[in-house]
Amino acid sequence: MRSRCSTCLGALAIILLGGACANAASPGGQGGPGDVGGDALAADVTAEGADTVAVAAATSAQEKDLLRLREEEKLARDVYLSLRDRWGTSVPVFDNISGSEQTHMDRVATHLTALGIPDPVTDPAVGAFTDPELKALYTQLVASGQPSLVAALTVGATIEDLDIHDIEAMRANTTDPAILATYAALECGSRNHMRAFYGFLTANGGSYRAQFITQAELDAIIAGAHEQCGMGTGPGRRGMGPGRGGRGGGWR
Ligand code: MN
Ligand code: MN
Repeated sequence: MRSRCSTCLGALAIILLGGACANAASPGGQGGPGDVGGDALAADVTAEGADTVAVAAATSAQEKDLLRLREEEKLARDVYLSLRDRWGTSVPVFDNISGSEQTHMDRVATHLTALGIPDPVTDPAVGAFTDPELKALYTQLVASGQPSLVAALTVGATIEDLDIHDIEAMRANTTDPAILATYAALECGSRNHMRAFYGFLTANGGSYRAQFITQAELDAIIAGAHEQCGMGTGPGRRGMGPGRGGRGGGWR
């Protein structure tokens, strides 16, 4: 059964535990819709104030998305760094993509800084998170990637699947062109990462089915070529793919 959540990290935890997504709540408080001052906002809605309230709600959703995305990119980075330590000599993909996730983290941070939003990443150490839900997910994902290389690569594909799904949902909550450009660049990077993980999975006898995006969207991503994602002008890393994936340059 396909899950439908605005942000599906809670669902990811449930999937990893072998269950199904059932309207997963966000105990950490940052991911759930409508959990910030809903009653107070509703009480303030008047004919004159409705527009102001709408703008405030939109700003709030955008801010929550950026806070979430900042730590979601860290989740990806930290899981890949840990799986690199476990499988680094087998495949280069975890090390390479963890570097890309760092650039994604940095780019989200530029928006937090520009908007005067305090950075939720107060500790850069691997496995440190402000959101307790993300900290728990980190532990679960790293554990899931320990038994086999295919299991580890499946964790990678799952994170990218989730990332693409969540960023697509976040687009509806902002009209800021710079933020939309960041979302597009990060989603582009996730498509490249998905192709890389999928390529290594199939090269190692595994496979992957979409869990958050549609299977049709996943099929289209897998069929597509490596993309340039507008994440900087530095020299791309080359030659890491199991086959055709190595020809495209950077992983960003
Ligand atoms: Mn990313
Ligand atoms: Mn990624």
